[in-house]
Amino acid sequence: MSTIFSKIISGELPATIVYQDDLVTAFRDIHPVAPVHILIVPNAEIPTVNDLTEGDERAAGRMFLAARKIAEQEGIAESGYRLIVNCNRDGGQEVYHLHMHLVGGRRMGPIVARPSD
Ligand code: AMP
Repeated sequence: MSTIFSKIISGELPATIVYQDDLVTAFRDIHPVAPVHILIVPNAEIPTVNDLTEGDERAAGRMFLAARKIAEQEGIAESGYRLIVNCNRDGGQEVYHLHMHLVGGRRMGPIVARPSD
């Protein structure tokens, strides 16, 4: 089933694409939580981390290499950044097309918010 991210990859939906190659596409998050907030997604429709197979090894590795390149490109490689991958309900995943958030440009604070209750 095609996701909103597949439509961005194919150019059907607009997005600010900052990087694209044969395996992954990266574009700016529509609701950024930091000065730099980019989503790196495999071009193949892989819903979640749970769906990754050995055949996806190159695409999964390429997501990290793209993150490294984009961080450099955005000027935050030295100051630092955070890479986040949410999986399913408890992970807070909203779009079921695997993606890595690259966030930076400010201090990120604690890695995980504490439950409010
Ligand atoms: P997650 O909660 O990990 O599934 O993250 C989904 C992310 O996709 C959120 O940060 C959204 O702001 C972002 N998002 C949803 N629709 C779009 C879109 N059309 N273009 C860019 N980012 C989007």
